[in-house]
Amino acid sequence: MDLIVSYFLMPKFKHYPIRPKRLTSAFAKAEYAKLLKRLPAAEASKDAKAWLKLFADWNALKSYIGSEGARINHRFNQDMRSKKAETAEIYFHEKVVPITEKPEHELTQAFLASQHKKELAKKYGSQLVPIYKTFLNPLNPINANLRIQDNRLVKQYEKLLASGTVKVKGQKMTLSKAGSLTTSGDPALRKAAFLAIGDWFLAHHAKMSRIYAKLVKIRNQMGKNVGLKSFTPLAYQNMGRTDYDEESVKKFRKAVLKYAVPLRQKLVKQHTEALGTPTLAVWDAGFNPQLTLPLGIVPVDKQLAGAQKLFNKLHPQLARNFKSLRKRKLIDLEDRPGKRNGAYCTVFTDEETVALLCDSTGDSDDIRVLTHEMGHAFQMMASQKISSVDLQVGTAELAEIESMGMEFLSLPHIDAFFNPLDAKKIVITCWLRAISTLCYVCVVDEFQHWVYANPQATSGKQDQKWVELADTYMPGLDWRGVEKYRKTGRVNKHHIFTVPFYYIDYALAEVCAMQLALIDAKDHRKALAIYLRLCGLGGTKSFLAAVKDAGLRSPFDEKLMADLVKHAAKILV
Ligand SMILES: [Zn+2]
Repeated sequence: MDLIVSYFLMPKFKHYPIRPKRLTSAFAKAEYAKLLKRLPAAEASKDAKAWLKLFADWNALKSYIGSEGARINHRFNQDMRSKKAETAEIYFHEKVVPITEKPEHELTQAFLASQHKKELAKKYGSQLVPIYKTFLNPLNPINANLRIQDNRLVKQYEKLLASGTVKVKGQKMTLSKAGSLTTSGDPALRKAAFLAIGDWFLAHHAKMSRIYAKLVKIRNQMGKNVGLKSFTPLAYQNMGRTDYDEESVKKFRKAVLKYAVPLRQKLVKQHTEALGTPTLAVWDAGFNPQLTLPLGIVPVDKQLAGAQKLFNKLHPQLARNFKSLRKRKLIDLEDRPGKRNGAYCTVFTDEETVALLCDSTGDSDDIRVLTHEMGHAFQMMASQKISSVDLQVGTAELAEIESMGMEFLSLPHIDAFFNPLDAKKIVITCWLRAISTLCYVCVVDEFQHWVYANPQATSGKQDQKWVELADTYMPGLDWRGVEKYRKTGRVNKHHIFTVPFYYIDYALAEVCAMQLALIDAKDHRKALAIYLRLCGLGGTKSFLAAVKDAGLRSPFDEKLMADLVKHAAKILV
């Protein structure tokens, strides 16, 4: 086998320092076979020593394969037009991942049934058993082929989106760039951008809907194959949710409807008055003359230096972490053709490092996105000390507290980018956005629950449902004359395709981030201490246990929603 010693040739790897030049399915298969061979003796042994060693090696293999997958995916996302990067991505997903699933399932089953389970949980943490229980169904080999098909469809959708270019006033540009123009102070320009984006999604609506219909069918079949009523409970397990269910989420949406939606309606009214228009036309929604900052106000090439200033003021540890990422060029900011839309932070646990990808265009919102993704980065960097890679990062709602919380914690130092007047506007915008997020998230979340519960619904029915939910949670926008674009909202939300049910997480986390902001207003040190504590906890606790540990109130407490919305109203109305 083609092995190299990485100590001299490559960065030092914590896991698998000796590894092939390229991760092949044959290598993964052989390594898993070695682990499985050790199982019977480890299980039969009177003490847990052999199992502990086996678990550590299994963890190292997971770390290596997971990190390699993340690196391959990151390179592809940086240029989705690269054939080489695409080939590597396809090889990983279609050859390597399927090889790992069966042994992963067997090892997970063996661990959960092991007489030494308690000893292992003692070493790695009490959340190990509950989280591994959620791994079982999503790993079930019965769905191996369906998972490959699912991934192919997701990639089709993502490539289509990344290829999206539109013409606004005769100028060709990416969808992200056109999106940024919808916040322009020039009414004609923002309307032109809105229409161009709408036309692009309308032209691709049928194709994207067909991809989605196939995904829904495949996903519901996966649920049924593991004995569940539909895809939904499988998706909850896939998201590692261990302490709340569909009912809790339904109640949470009700609280949003009761408290946040009425406040949003007041804000829409205020917005309309600020514009001096009789109604809030949908193409004007991105611009508020009292709040929206001019396009290009923070040139992309100045953003890293500004963020360094901000984090220097915030906390020395955060400043050091940011500096190290900059130095290693692990932050890819600028939007460009072929680059994946949206932003994320990914982790390479075997190198103990992270990488960021954004689609920055120079607008003020870039800074929110950068602080958000850096929030994830700080958490991932802080939890590299946790031995089990599966417990380093919390479940999505937990992980989003660290990112959305960082958006709020950055506000007192946002003058690193903006003058005092603009900084005030940014603070108000952050609270406004939080209220809108709660409402919009409910549209996306309830839509998905409905889709998987009604798999027979046609594309037209799905369009109708989307519009109905948008009217429920986000009333007040004037769509007259452009009604035809309303249905494109559901195909213009990549989570619905790529990471199903990953959305309510943003609202649950937002409610925690708002609490963090309230604490910060009274006691900055305390808020930062809570933040750093959460970062260090990673995924060693369940969502609600971590929230409690940090001294925050549960997002499922209806009274909390009432209190937070009341506070937001004081700032906003
Ligand atoms: Zn995030």
